[in-house]
Amino acid sequence: MARKTIRNGRDAQRRLQERKAAARRRLIAGSLEEWHASAFEHALDQFDAAARRLKLTDNQIAMIKLPRRITEVLLPVRMDNGDIRNFRAFRVQHNTVRGPAKGGIRFHQDVTVDEIKALAFWMTYKCAVVGIPMGGAKGGVVVDPRTLSPGERERLSRRYMAEMIDLFGPDIDVPGPDVNTGPQVMGWMLDTYVMHKRGFLPAVITGKPLELGGSAGRANATSRGLAVCVQKAAARLGLNLKGATAAIQGFGNVGSNAAKFLAQSGAKIVAISDVEGAYRDDAGIDVEAAVAHVVRHGTLTGFKGAAPMRHAARLLELPVDVLVPAALENQITKENAPRVRARIVAEGANGPTTPAADEILTRQGTFVIPDILCNAGGVTVSYLEWVQNRIGYYWTEQRVNEDLQRIMEAAFDEVYATMKKRRVGMRIAAFMVAIRRVMEASEMRGLYA
Ligand code: NAD
Repeated sequence: MARKTIRNGRDAQRRLQERKAAARRRLIAGSLEEWHASAFEHALDQFDAAARRLKLTDNQIAMIKLPRRITEVLLPVRMDNGDIRNFRAFRVQHNTVRGPAKGGIRFHQDVTVDEIKALAFWMTYKCAVVGIPMGGAKGGVVVDPRTLSPGERERLSRRYMAEMIDLFGPDIDVPGPDVNTGPQVMGWMLDTYVMHKRGFLPAVITGKPLELGGSAGRANATSRGLAVCVQKAAARLGLNLKGATAAIQGFGNVGSNAAKFLAQSGAKIVAISDVEGAYRDDAGIDVEAAVAHVVRHGTLTGFKGAAPMRHAARLLELPVDVLVPAALENQITKENAPRVRARIVAEGANGPTTPAADEILTRQGTFVIPDILCNAGGVTVSYLEWVQNRIGYYWTEQRVNEDLQRIMEAAFDEVYATMKKRRVGMRIAAFMVAIRRVMEASEMRGLYA
């Protein structure tokens, strides 16, 4: 009898896993083969393309291409039922020649060390492209946070900081939020750090709640920066954003705020999606109503303000002026790229376009604002938060937004000028600007030995 119950339990578990895998397959555009292809390999391809044009030597490449430190730990966490579960966790520090490492911590069931290496790599070059004095890092825990109670989430967050504490510090490595981690998780991690160090050092982590030294304007900084880039790109293309159409994949922090800012610029948001499905209304979706629905229900599911799309991945192929992938990596692939009809692709997510897809988009004449530039507003205001923590004086939201706007505009203009001058796409241009900065800093420091 007991054996039968266990078997039934396992069968139910297996059926659940299969259902989840099928749901993921429905949502992922393109071949699973390309999805499984390493995000890190994609990142290195991007590096190589820019390094070739910069004519970097092998010694220069040896200093700045690969991650300098990769840490993996098992986090034992007591669950509410008394069981202890181990969670795999990572911190990758890619490069610190321009300043302390900087990069968020992601909680997601599909996290792999390869993905975290790619994200850490992108952080190095993202900080460099906007010229903020920090290096690149990323962290992650293999967990589906939807399966955790608030208490389990807190214990997991605290254990992550406790296990990795020697890696972190305001002058060493400064984590922040990423997918499925937000101000509350940052607050728990800060508290854990402070309890160990016996001193209040808020600059050790960014994306904190305002009450704990967070910065005004951080919550929507990534999307504000994205909107600045879209406005600049539209101006260059002669596209009037008033009345332009936009589709947004992913309706979390980045996607929902991007929708708000684009709507404020006069664009019509005709499609939005989250992990459970996509919604479309060619007359324009009321973004505030969608956000209110997500606040109430935690998901877009059941949203009545637009019609559900049968195939969520088709959102990427809608005939819109602006497409904002703001979910996860590898969404625009060589399979669906030929069907992408947007004039501007503004990469809110990190790594949403595979290198093969990128080539197709470039050939099609799509204006791609690459992730390391397009979503750099988040880390820019994280840097401003770190500065405020260190001087112990806090700026108004207006001051933060003005600094952000100035930094993003300058970065966009520099990348655009490089694109024109070197006759490359925006992505390679962004990497060329960034790699040159990291390389010059590396050469000036020299090799300690
Ligand atoms: P989030 O957890 O707040 O939101 C993620 C959203 O994507 C959710 O709505 C989720 O349901 C949706 N999603 C997940 N898989 C999907 C799929 N297959 N199809 C459609 N929707 C899907 O995370 P976020 O902070 O908004 O981050 C989103 C992306 O932006 C990530 O790639 C992240 O690394 C990147 N990013 C975030 C920041 C930031 O400041 N939050 C900064 C730079 C880059």
